[in-house]
Amino acid sequence: MNDSANYAPCAKPLEIPPRTLLGPGPSDVAPRVLQAMGQPTVGHLDPSFVKIMDEVKEGLKSAFRTRNEMTFPVSAPGSAGMESCVVNLLEPGDTAIIGVNGVFGNRMAENARRAGAHVVLVESPWGRPVDPARIREALRANPGARAVGFVHAETSTGVCSDAQAIAAECHAHECLVIVDAVTSLGGIPLEVDGWGLDAVYSGSQKCLSCTPGLSPVSFSPRAMARIAARRSPVQSWFLDLSLVAGYWQDSEQGGGGRTYHHTAPVNAVYGLYESLRMLHEEGLEAAWARHQRVHEGLCVGLEALGLELAVPASCRLPQLNAVKIPEGVSDADVRGRLLAEYSIEIGAGLGPSRGEIWRVGLMGSSASPGNVVRFLGAMEQILDRSGAVHAADAFFDHARPAR
Ligand SMILES: *Cc1c(COP(=O)(O)O)cnc(C)c1O
Repeated sequence: MNDSANYAPCAKPLEIPPRTLLGPGPSDVAPRVLQAMGQPTVGHLDPSFVKIMDEVKEGLKSAFRTRNEMTFPVSAPGSAGMESCVVNLLEPGDTAIIGVNGVFGNRMAENARRAGAHVVLVESPWGRPVDPARIREALRANPGARAVGFVHAETSTGVCSDAQAIAAECHAHECLVIVDAVTSLGGIPLEVDGWGLDAVYSGSQKCLSCTPGLSPVSFSPRAMARIAARRSPVQSWFLDLSLVAGYWQDSEQGGGGRTYHHTAPVNAVYGLYESLRMLHEEGLEAAWARHQRVHEGLCVGLEALGLELAVPASCRLPQLNAVKIPEGVSDADVRGRLLAEYSIEIGAGLGPSRGEIWRVGLMGSSASPGNVVRFLGAMEQILDRSGAVHAADAFFDHARPAR
């Protein structure tokens, strides 16, 4: 900080460097989303805003592939969506089984502990998926378990767990399923109704490519019945669904209408509206296919650079690529040069994988062939190797979608 006598805080205009965001989130936000957010702020109960809220709920339902009425964006980042699912579904003394294979699974387990639950961990090595068979064993060993939670797309390691298979184990035990879909929503197949997921949360800043700060959530009728039957009030006032519901839904009694709960971040909701409009224009399945194709192009280029992915092909996330840092190469130097010389952000490894992997995100608007080629070109220069751009260009030329 500048502590000279005539220093005035925030006196200079903002100077934001133009970046290409290829890290674990946020991803690049499309100009039209930023423009939408620059529209005039209206009252958070203005009829025009209530219409936008309703459209956003419908847009999220289609992105989540659900008919759940209780689908809306929590006015806070993904971690708040996580907390919303956990504190509403779990009561003190409940048993919760949490699959952990990275940072975000651990965070969910910690949320459950703080909600007063008895937490049974089902741990898998970092870099491997949560094992449905081990969830089944844990369900057998804990027949009273009230919920199973796990991360669908573990952004800390780049691993996809089989959410459908894990959910099927839970259904056999009539146990509710809580799923972290922060990085999966909009990037890879996610079927909230088709797979029978009960409480799902996501984030605005990953594959939806909106600005950070909103957390789309969806609760099934089974989850809502569980909440209605709670013995104790939800310990968080802000996240208590029974209170938030009156703001995002017309109340059934009292002639409908919305009631004040908190002031929604009006302009952020405009942004989410626009990013959902973009997703709808592209088509959800086309967006999944784009993430996959762009990932495959990256893989071809990385191979030409002599770099390897840390996750087996069977459980790789296309939108988050864990790249092994080669022997003798400095993690921080490479990331520093990418940012300083090429204005490209990638992520470092988290926890035990720090210094072992780079996390290259290709999420939402960032998932484009052009970004892959620019990233590979920068890596060719920094690592003093060649051939990657050529290989990726050839891949994208051949993989161009038929018109
Ligand atoms: C980013 C992320 C979160 C947390 O989201 P925030 O918006 O940073 O709070 C949770 N889970 C996963 C899998 C994530 O990638």
